Amino acid sequence: MKIYISADIEGVAGIVDWEQCRPSGGAAWQEGRELLTAEVNAAIEGAFNAGAEEVVVNDAHGAMRTLLPRELDARARLIQGRVKANYMLEGLDRSFQAMFFVGYHGGAGARWGVLNHTYSPYATRLNGDTVDETALNAAVAGVGYDVPLAFISGDEWTVAETKRRFGSGAIGVVTKRSTSRYASNSLHPSESCRQIKEGAGRAMGRVGTLLPYLLPTPYTIELDFETSAQADRANLMPGTERVGDRTVGYSDSDIFAVYRAYQALMILGRSGEA
Ligand SMILES: [Zn+2]
Repeated sequence: MKIYISADIEGVAGIVDWEQCRPSGGAAWQEGRELLTAEVNAAIEGAFNAGAEEVVVNDAHGAMRTLLPRELDARARLIQGRVKANYMLEGLDRSFQAMFFVGYHGGAGARWGVLNHTYSPYATRLNGDTVDETALNAAVAGVGYDVPLAFISGDEWTVAETKRRFGSGAIGVVTKRSTSRYASNSLHPSESCRQIKEGAGRAMGRVGTLLPYLLPTPYTIELDFETSAQADRANLMPGTERVGDRTVGYSDSDIFAVYRAYQALMILGRSGEA
């Protein structure tokens, strides 16, 4: 069995501040990288203990060089760096039976999601429905490759939102409870890792019974920017539609074209003055 892991950081136990998520944070950033690497290792170990033959990890946060390669479980392969056309899902294909999301977080504006955001800080809709990164990535993986989500770890809100959207299929591990955007009540990192390892093992038992997340075509993505100037620049891209003063949309029957357009719109949006 082949398992794919997409690793973000904001949902990891003990992470509450951007300082722990960005290289400019110095010692806090190093601490964040260690906390994340330990949780990813727990998921890898849980998967191998329960029969995985191959595990591929995609470093999906920020500049995508957050995981510590030397400290990662040597049985896994690591995809890292930028630019990756499939971004948080780079390296995924139809040969994988399931995917795990580790360190995932709440969508932009979710009050009870610590460090909440959706890619850039802007709200995002897919086929008219406000999505967080979990839902958007699961849709790209489901539509594009038929691969279902089997496991997610993150704060309480993120796991609850995943259960609401996907039903009881995926195993969720709650690493912390959000108190505000920059505060949480967290498990000890070692306890979080213990639960992730155990949950990843249980998730392996569900592989084969899970359904990929599918949506009706065409796929339409809409981004609410913070300013009209950001939307002006994003709207320069051919094929986009100005849906509102600060909102730009893009539609296609190819989910990967939509996912790439989404990335391009974000890059255009932040490429000049706000
Ligand atoms: Zn992130």
